[in-house]
Amino acid sequence: MLELKNIKKSYKTGSFKQTALKDVDVKFRTEEFVAILGPSGSGKTTLLNIIGGLDRYDSGDLIINGKSTKKFKDSNWDSYRNNCIGFIFQSYNLISHISILENVEMSTILSGYSKKRRRKMSIDALEKVGLKDHIHKKPNQLSGGQMQRVAIARALVNNPDIILADEPTGALDTKTSKQIMDLIKEVAKDKLVIMVTHNPDLAKEYANRIIEFKDGEIISDSSPVKDDENKNDKFKIKKTSMNYLSAISLSFNNLKTKKGRTFITSFASSIGIIGIALILSLSNGFKLKIDDFEKDTLAQMPLIISEQTMDLNSMKNMANEKDNLEEYSNKKKIYPQKTMEANVHINKITKEYLDIIENIDNDLIGGLSYTRITGLNIFTKQNDEVKAVEKELFSSLPSNKDGTSSTVMTDNFEIIYGSESTNKEDLFLLVDSKNRINEKVLEILGYKDKKEINFDDIIGKEFKIVLNDDYYNENNGFFTINNDLNDLYNKENNITVKIKGIIRGKKDNMFGEMSGTGIFYNKSLMDYIIDKNKESEIVKVQSDKNYNVLTMTQFEKDEDKENMISFLGGNSIPKAIQIYPKDFESKDKIIKELDKYNKSKSKEDKILYLDQSELMTSLTGNIMDAITIVLIAFSSISLIVSSIMVGIITYTSVLERTKEIGILRSLGARKKDITRVFNAETLIIGLCSGVLGILIARLLIIPTNIIIENLSKLPDVAKLNPKHAIILITISVILTLIGGLIPSRIASKKDPVIALRTE
Ligand code: ADP
Ligand code: MG
Repeated sequence: MLELKNIKKSYKTGSFKQTALKDVDVKFRTEEFVAILGPSGSGKTTLLNIIGGLDRYDSGDLIINGKSTKKFKDSNWDSYRNNCIGFIFQSYNLISHISILENVEMSTILSGYSKKRRRKMSIDALEKVGLKDHIHKKPNQLSGGQMQRVAIARALVNNPDIILADEPTGALDTKTSKQIMDLIKEVAKDKLVIMVTHNPDLAKEYANRIIEFKDGEIISDSSPVKDDENKNDKFKIKKTSMNYLSAISLSFNNLKTKKGRTFITSFASSIGIIGIALILSLSNGFKLKIDDFEKDTLAQMPLIISEQTMDLNSMKNMANEKDNLEEYSNKKKIYPQKTMEANVHINKITKEYLDIIENIDNDLIGGLSYTRITGLNIFTKQNDEVKAVEKELFSSLPSNKDGTSSTVMTDNFEIIYGSESTNKEDLFLLVDSKNRINEKVLEILGYKDKKEINFDDIIGKEFKIVLNDDYYNENNGFFTINNDLNDLYNKENNITVKIKGIIRGKKDNMFGEMSGTGIFYNKSLMDYIIDKNKESEIVKVQSDKNYNVLTMTQFEKDEDKENMISFLGGNSIPKAIQIYPKDFESKDKIIKELDKYNKSKSKEDKILYLDQSELMTSLTGNIMDAITIVLIAFSSISLIVSSIMVGIITYTSVLERTKEIGILRSLGARKKDITRVFNAETLIIGLCSGVLGILIARLLIIPTNIIIENLSKLPDVAKLNPKHAIILITISVILTLIGGLIPSRIASKKDPVIALRTE
């Protein structure tokens, strides 16, 4: 039984209130054909919508199976519409982008039967209305009568108890109208049919009961239900829902009808993905290449233990010092350099440390080179005045352990002026990257306080090295220094040395930068001096004594004596050491040994090494990461833009499909189902754009690699990591889903009645 009790309904448009139903009080039997007659605007459609649960009454009650619907929730109404009600509209209301079979199936999708069963039900329903041969046609390929037959099949397929028909023949000619009426009468003989019509003749011919309607009120009823009639007739109501697969197939069909637009949308939103995929493949590929490169080359960069090391920050400060000097210039000039003392760590290389290095497994070491110093008594003549020179300003050029001329020299330095030589008489001036040289060195060269000096003025500068027996005088077991500088300068045994060339650390070479500046001599000079001085009186005496023969103070450590003999030029001590590991593993093992030494030492006595390769790789790694992040940030903007675009497109789609939303709701779809349909649509677009983006990026990698190979000789640099590909597709789906979120919520909130009235 269906009963309307004092139903009232009015619509507000702005401040204007339009009463559609004044006070409707009527009962319907479970099996009867009711025709509602009445002029346009009298509230017939409103009545049907309220009976069908599409629209809500303002007051009164709708009683189904004796139960009030006052407390019905949305879900109860949805189930009621899907199970109990079949709507037939004047304008057919078919979904145009799917076949008529799918239109009929749409009604069953919501009832949750299996796909196979639903298909059979739908085909059966279409057979009943005489359209079995047309099931794969689209609605616009049918005549009006045929479309209304489809609507009837759709209304019947779930075998509802109530058929609500709103002017079903209003758009059809008389002959077709009769056929449709016959069909409704035939298929709904055991149901309640409530049909709104303008046509009193049709009503009289087909209906068993005629209700006349005017101004929202019933003015006559040919067969009202009496109070004592059977009240045990029941309608059936069960839950409805649309699963995700159905939502996706519905959206997929919709997108199929807009292939061009879907493709362009997907392509546009894939641009961000393409950008990021390319950037990731490049950075990924470069990192792999750098790893290879490191293994080949960087492993062979030396561990450097120099006399001075400084922390990198102070080095940076020094580099940033403003002086307008050009780096690695071709100018034949020299400039003074301020002495830097901040953050300098002095490495005191001890015998213990040297022993550790000597004992490192030879298999780990590819090469070992030392820079040694020995005591030299050096003099120069400026303006006819002889001056003594600090011996600390002189050191030897690096040489191998066995004394052979070192590859360290050619690996790390370049001769920028003059020529190479191993003669003991030849000296070299080492300048820094800005051609600067320590002020003290400039002073002894005779260029104190000069702003710049020409290379040519430096070359040929002469020094005299005085041997110990001429330099020191013995006096009853202790020694004094000969003070007559002019006499010393002119001794017969003196060795005359001259500056032969100017050298500079190679560009971006740590060792070069760490070597400082100064005057360097060949190992041949050192060997010659040590040879001579070993036999000198002072060294011979010093070797026997436990006190300093110049100051007459007692030695505290064995080391002190060693250092004294070196100071006297009777031996040499290493000032810097370069260790060349065979490979990365060897380097780690060597470093372990060196670290062992430092463990037990105080901060001051620690010997710090410089790992050039590590510096290089962490630098290149960081730069790569930074560039990658910046580029990805840029491409991400296009991702955001594309998700906004998808949002807009989804919103347009919502507007376009308003009618469809109404139809789905009239068939019993829940708000949630509508959201699902549109989410499914954005999901498909997101997936398409993600996959498309990856495919295009994959294709673009081919020419990219060809270009890179032409430029850099590196083959196959760009490589897309499959993990990145999957992550990017996921991001694309998530972003488009977010973009479509608002439009799909708007869709679900649409009032089904208004949606159905939309054209
Ligand atoms: P009928 O189907 O008998 O032609 P309706 O039920 O469609 O009449 O409409 C009844 C009255 O309610 C009409 O005056 C119509 O303008 C008004 N009406 C119907 N729907 C709305 C709505 N959504 N908003 C405002 N007024 C409405
Ligand atoms: Mg109407």
